[in-house]
Amino acid sequence: MNRDGARKSIWQEEIKTFSLDPALAKCYDVAIVGAGITGISTAIRLQKEGKKCIVLEASNIGFGTTGGTTAHLNDFFDTTYAQAIKDVGLQNAKLLKYVGIEARNIIRNNIRQFNISCDFESKPAYLFALDEKQEKKLDDILKGASQVGHPMAQTDDIPFPFAFKKAVSIPDQGQFHPIKYIKGLAEAFINLGGLLLEECLCEGHDEKEDVVILQSSKGRVSARSVIYATHIPPGVNILHLMNAPYRSYAIAFRLKGDCHPMELGYDLTEPYHYYRTQKINGENLFIAGGEDHKTGHADDTGECFSKLENYVREYFDVDTAVYSWSSQYYEPADGLPYIGVLPGSKGKIYTATGFRGNGMIFGTITSQILGDLILNGSSKYKDLFDPARIRPIAGFTNFVKEQAVVVFDFVKDKMLTERINSLTELSDGEAKVVKYEGESYAVYKEKGGKLHLIKSTCPHAKCEVRWNSAEISWDCPCHGSRFNINGRMLTGPTVKNLQRIEL
Ligand SMILES: Cc1cc2nc3c(=O)[nH]c(=O)nc-3n(C[C@H](O)[C@H](O)[C@H](O)COP(=O)(O)OP(=O)(O)OC[C@H]3O[C@@H](n4cnc5c(N)ncnc54)[C@H](O)[C@@H]3O)c2cc1C
Repeated sequence: MNRDGARKSIWQEEIKTFSLDPALAKCYDVAIVGAGITGISTAIRLQKEGKKCIVLEASNIGFGTTGGTTAHLNDFFDTTYAQAIKDVGLQNAKLLKYVGIEARNIIRNNIRQFNISCDFESKPAYLFALDEKQEKKLDDILKGASQVGHPMAQTDDIPFPFAFKKAVSIPDQGQFHPIKYIKGLAEAFINLGGLLLEECLCEGHDEKEDVVILQSSKGRVSARSVIYATHIPPGVNILHLMNAPYRSYAIAFRLKGDCHPMELGYDLTEPYHYYRTQKINGENLFIAGGEDHKTGHADDTGECFSKLENYVREYFDVDTAVYSWSSQYYEPADGLPYIGVLPGSKGKIYTATGFRGNGMIFGTITSQILGDLILNGSSKYKDLFDPARIRPIAGFTNFVKEQAVVVFDFVKDKMLTERINSLTELSDGEAKVVKYEGESYAVYKEKGGKLHLIKSTCPHAKCEVRWNSAEISWDCPCHGSRFNINGRMLTGPTVKNLQRIEL
C-alpha cells in the first residue's frame, strides 16, 4: 500500500489491493471523492441505503492521512468539552459528546455486520498532567466533561512510567487497524454493488441544476450529489482560510521485555504526546506520537523524529524504532470540524474537513451526517458542524494571526529565495528553493548526485513550497498541498502537479 510520504507507516504492511477499473455508468446517485476513513465510511452508508455510489481516489485506498494515523478511537477531543461549552454553549457541547458515542457504535456495527477483522479493541484511556500548568488544564477538562456528562474519573495509578501530578481515566475508548478496517468496508461496498476507482484524480466539477459533473483523470462522472472526502476540499474554497495544515510525527517502537502499555495515553504538553500499542505480524509495537508543527514551519523535519525518539527513550526501555512516519491534519478556525454542504455550492456538493487529531471519530460520524443530509435532508449535527458558519470567538482571532504568519512567510520566502549561481552547489541529499535566472525552482539532489528540478510555486494559491526532509516531499505552508520530488501532487487542495523541468 502506498502513502503520501517516503517513510513507511505501521499500517502499510496491509497489502490487499483493489485493482478494479469498471466501466463508468451514465450517472450515479452519489460520487464520493477520496478513499480514506471519511470517504469509505460514507460510501458504505449510502450504498447500504440503496444509493448507487462511486468512489474516486487519486491514488489508492488509505493513501492520505488514514494511512498515516495512529487510530486511537477517543471521544475526548482536541477541542475539550470545557472549550466547547465556552464557544458553542452547553447544549451544543452535549451534542458533541454524542458524536463519539455514535461514531464508535457505527464502527462496532460495521465490524459486526461485514465481519471485518481489524484488531478492534475497546479499552480505557488515561490523560495525565506532568506539571502544574498541565494540572490546571486537566482540572478544566474534568470540569467540562462533568458538565456534559462525559465519564472521566480521577486516578492515582496510570499504566505509563511518568511521574504525574494528576491523572484521569476514561472508560470505553478504543483502537483498531485503520487500513484493515477501511479495506474491509471497501470490500463490502463493492459487494453491495458500489464502484471504486483508484488512480483517479478528480480535477474539478460543474454543478448544474439537477446533476454535478466531475472532471477526472479517468473521464467525466455525473452524480446527483458529490462528497469531497479529500481531507480538505480541492480547488479554491473559503474553507482553505478556515483550516490550517499541521504535521504530526509517530514512531512504533519495539520495547525490551515486552512490557508494552496496552491502554491509550496522553499527556497535556503543547503539542501533546499520544501513546498506544499495536500488534503487527504477531509482535507488539508501542506507538508514540507528537512533535506537531504547522506544515512547512520546521527547518528540519527529520529532527522532529529525533526529539520524539529521545523523549520516549527517557521513559521507556526501547529496543528499536521499527517504523517512523509523519502525516498531516487540519486545525479548524473555531475548533470544530466542518461537515456539510461545501461553501459556494448550490447544495449538491458536500465536504468534511477540520478534524484536528480526531478524524477516526469525525470521519466516521461524517457517514451519518452526510448520509442523513442526502437521504433525509436533515441531521441533528447539521448546525453544529455547518461549513457555512462563522463564529467570532477567541480562538478565531488567534487563528487569523496564525494565518497572517503564513502570509508574511510567503512574502519573505519570495524575497529571500536563495540565490545560487549553479544548482550543483547542493550537497547530496540536500534540497532548496532557488532562484535561477529569474525563476524560482525547488531542487533536490539525490544521494548519488541525481538532480530533481521542479517549479516551486504551488499552483493552488501561489505560495512557495518548502522542503520536508522526513517524507522527501515539497510541502506548501499556506494550505497544505504536498508534492513528491518530481512535482506529482501527493496531498490537496491542489489538483495540479508542480511543473517538472527535465535536466
Ligand atoms: C500522525 C497523525 C496521527 C493521528 N492520529 C489520530 C488518532 O489516533 N485518532 C484519530 O481519531 N485521528 C487521528 N488523526 C487524524 C486522522 O488520522 C485524520 O483526520 C483522518 O485520517 C482523515 O481521514 P480522511 O478520510 O478525511 O482523509 P484522508 O485519509 O487524507 O483521505 C483523503 C483521500 O482523498 C484522496 N484525494 C485527495 N484529493 C483528491 C482528488 N482531487 N481526487 C481524488 N482523490 C483525492 C487522497 O489521496 C486520500 O486518499 C491523526 C492524524 C495524524 C497526522
